[in-house]
Amino acid sequence: MSIINETNTFTCDEKTKQYIPLYYENIISNKTNVSYHFNPEVSQYHYGSLHPMKPFRLMLTDHLMISYKLYEKMDCYQPRKATKEELLQFHSEEYINFLQTITPEKVKTLSDQVLGKFNIGDDCPIFDGIYDYSSIYTGASLDASRKLINNMSDIAINWSGGLHHAKKFEPSGFCYVNDIVLSIINLLRIHPRVMYIDIDLHHGDGVQEAFYTTDRVMTVSFHKYNGEFFPGTGSVDEIGLGNGKNYAINVPLRDGIDDENYIRLFKSIMEPLITKFQPTCIVQQCGADSLGYDRLGCFNLNIRAHGECVSFIKSFGIPMLVLGGGGYTPRNVSRLWCYETSILNDVTLDHKIPNYLPSYNWFGPDYSLHPQLEGRIDNKNSKKYLESVKQEIMEQIRYLNHSPSVQMYDIPPDITGLTDEEDEIINELNMEFEKDRDEKMMRDDLRNSELMV
Ligand SMILES: [Zn+2]
Repeated sequence: MSIINETNTFTCDEKTKQYIPLYYENIISNKTNVSYHFNPEVSQYHYGSLHPMKPFRLMLTDHLMISYKLYEKMDCYQPRKATKEELLQFHSEEYINFLQTITPEKVKTLSDQVLGKFNIGDDCPIFDGIYDYSSIYTGASLDASRKLINNMSDIAINWSGGLHHAKKFEPSGFCYVNDIVLSIINLLRIHPRVMYIDIDLHHGDGVQEAFYTTDRVMTVSFHKYNGEFFPGTGSVDEIGLGNGKNYAINVPLRDGIDDENYIRLFKSIMEPLITKFQPTCIVQQCGADSLGYDRLGCFNLNIRAHGECVSFIKSFGIPMLVLGGGGYTPRNVSRLWCYETSILNDVTLDHKIPNYLPSYNWFGPDYSLHPQLEGRIDNKNSKKYLESVKQEIMEQIRYLNHSPSVQMYDIPPDITGLTDEEDEIINELNMEFEKDRDEKMMRDDLRNSELMV
């Protein structure tokens, strides 16, 4: 394959080429400290050849960032794995023990009942090194949260994190350990109010569920929703419970939303939310499956539009933990996260991907940071529909108390703190969930067989 050379149009020799900048510094008043947390080992794991989650997308992202020399702009850390004790801050001991000891060989000997109990199947298979993989990406998120806590970073990035579906007792939707919940628990040690923003294609159900009853964490998720699409939750009327009532915000979208409508809706919702809640720290999950042409996706977003949401949140100047998430077309996942890293570092990248990148061939035929990704799916979000979603959320914002004044805790508080009545509501919800579960598993099976073709 021939490599398109940057000198096709304008001739310049090797020496001159050294002086062509890969990025231009944006003019900014206040320099932000940005840190990047990445353990390259994480990209070596395999969910299985047919599984859409490809950890090597993280290596591709890292390569791309190296080729643009973005490491010059940030403090780069190679974090340690999370310890078992750290994982147990959210997950149950039984589940973590299971993850720690299970192997692809052992899993064959388990009964359907045990497999069902730990939700093991096509979505969440057991692969070699599953526990190490989970503790590596979680270790990076925790490391990033520590740098925010001790003020060494204003913005800390971990593209290998953001696994928002994992639950306390089980994995879900390709996610085993919920690094986001664990990082937020850590941030709550010193931050009175943390806002979680999720722009993955899928509902951020694991994070929402963990903080559903507290007003110290506001969760905001923008996602595809029709009641059936994975994980099945995320309707506008899931608003939180008990002290957490109105502190869960859901923005359900239909197929095919485009740049303009997504950005307008995102800004018009996030601006009043941030103003009212006044978070002291923000965690943003930047799942890349909301891009157009994603292997599992159904939106029409371009890389610039996704990045615009990150840029908008950054503009509030609040300390920020930035995480990855879904994203199943590796070349676009890496383009997006590299681009968003440049935004967070206040530099503008040349749209032409540097041709000395070892994985350069992945980015053809355009070799651009900004391929055209819109238009594959019909936009089913009418102006009227989007306006009605916005109005419902504005109504919810009206009910929000001003930023809750909270007691500061030395250790994370008990995040449940429910009354008997609320306990009962949760029990009923759990029972309903159990009933729906068989049906959901059947749907997942159908979905998987679609994936595997
Ligand atoms: Zn997703």
